[in-house]
Amino acid sequence: MRAFGVDSLTVEEVEDPSPGRGQVVVRVVEAGVNPVDYFVVSGMRTVEPMPHIPGAEFAGVVEEVGPDVKSVRPGDRVVVYPRVFCGRCDMCVSGSEHLCRVGGIVGAVTNGGFAEKALVSESNVFKIPDSVSWDIAASLPVAALTSYHALREAGVSPGDVVVIVGASGNTGQFALQLAKMMGARVLAVSSKKWPLELGADEVAPVEQSYEVLRKMTGGRLADVVVDAVGTPTLPTSLKLLDSRGRLIIFGALRGSSLSLSATDLYSRELRIVGTTGGTRGEFMRLIDMASRGLLKVKVWRRHRLTEAREALKLLFSRERDGRVMLVAGS
Ligand SMILES: [Zn+2]
Repeated sequence: MRAFGVDSLTVEEVEDPSPGRGQVVVRVVEAGVNPVDYFVVSGMRTVEPMPHIPGAEFAGVVEEVGPDVKSVRPGDRVVVYPRVFCGRCDMCVSGSEHLCRVGGIVGAVTNGGFAEKALVSESNVFKIPDSVSWDIAASLPVAALTSYHALREAGVSPGDVVVIVGASGNTGQFALQLAKMMGARVLAVSSKKWPLELGADEVAPVEQSYEVLRKMTGGRLADVVVDAVGTPTLPTSLKLLDSRGRLIIFGALRGSSLSLSATDLYSRELRIVGTTGGTRGEFMRLIDMASRGLLKVKVWRRHRLTEAREALKLLFSRERDGRVMLVAGS
């Protein structure tokens, strides 16, 4: 893209990237389309370089490696950790490379994966076995990692009641599955029924979520509510929290303002847990879970890599019923 705005996205022939020391060129096979890409394309995030190739979440095959690259070889199937990090700042050395002081998101502060080939650092590239589908592989870096890190930060433990608002969305699908694996009982808030197939104990549209939750818990409420929808659902999400409950926010797809009663917050000992992305350690665990066949994804539409503009628009479509993916042409 040469200007901000989804309608400014164009398809262009550019020079193939060439790997420098410690760098890897990945031939993109599949990319997930996420709100972060929309924010990048809309100019709501720091974007470089310009002209720019967006795309934070992708998987593919190693095409070429630069000098000193030891962990992967051409032909390896790989997924790309979506954060650029320095490895030297206090955040990086304490294992929070997703909060690197000088880093950022792949596809925002670097060219990303909505392209035939992407240039990434070796430290961002992780091998995946043949048994992991490209749909799953291309859902690990953003959708799955964001959910996994958030649930861990909120300390979800066996027996917790977890409500996932937007359970049929990108992150919601994985938050649901991962919360179940952590031993929680899960209410999926969605107008669709298929979250039950991913393991949800109950599913309810947002208007009925309070009653369904009360019934499900025998009058209690939720220990954890995950809400990445934003302004329209946050008031309900706060109401769904039991005393000592934690509200997880890692996105605000439909608006980010939140009105909050400070009295409600302290008198019920509520906590708001903001999270973003996840660590490489968590990413490796997710790859392991995917390798063991523990993760599923519901894909709604697959578009060609050249159709990123259409795909980004579908992200906000009311009819959206699962993920929107971009796949390389044959
Ligand atoms: Zn750093």
